Amino acid sequence: MVGTPKEPSGWEACPEGELARVAGRLRRRRRVGAAVRAVAAVAVILLAITTIYLQWPGSGEYNYGGITCIEVHNALPALKAGTLDEKTLARVRAHLKKCPLCEPLSHFLPPNPTQTGSLPCRDGCARDIANR
Ligand SMILES: [Zn+2]
Repeated sequence: MVGTPKEPSGWEACPEGELARVAGRLRRRRRVGAAVRAVAAVAVILLAITTIYLQWPGSGEYNYGGITCIEVHNALPALKAGTLDEKTLARVRAHLKKCPLCEPLSHFLPPNPTQTGSLPCRDGCARDIANR
């Protein structure tokens, strides 16, 4: 017996426009999925940046002159007492020159001998300067 195969029971022809509606629904679903993936990717990137920023040593403060703001503030008592070692004092001085946050602490610095002309000098040196 030759002829067109019979439709299996339960199947019937699609109503007009049904395929277009299904295609439209699939396209919308794909667009929403892509948007969700993009938002998730941005969230993951922001989370990674925030995590790295918060865990980075000295984050949220400046590091000028090889010393951070917190280290400068920790050295403040010794700076006020004039007991800060020369190496740290030089670093603190370099930091305070550049750091907008710590700059107000500059008045605690002792005069810079190279700028004030108050380098240690013996008597002969003073006479040399006086004779100029
Ligand atoms: Zn600072």
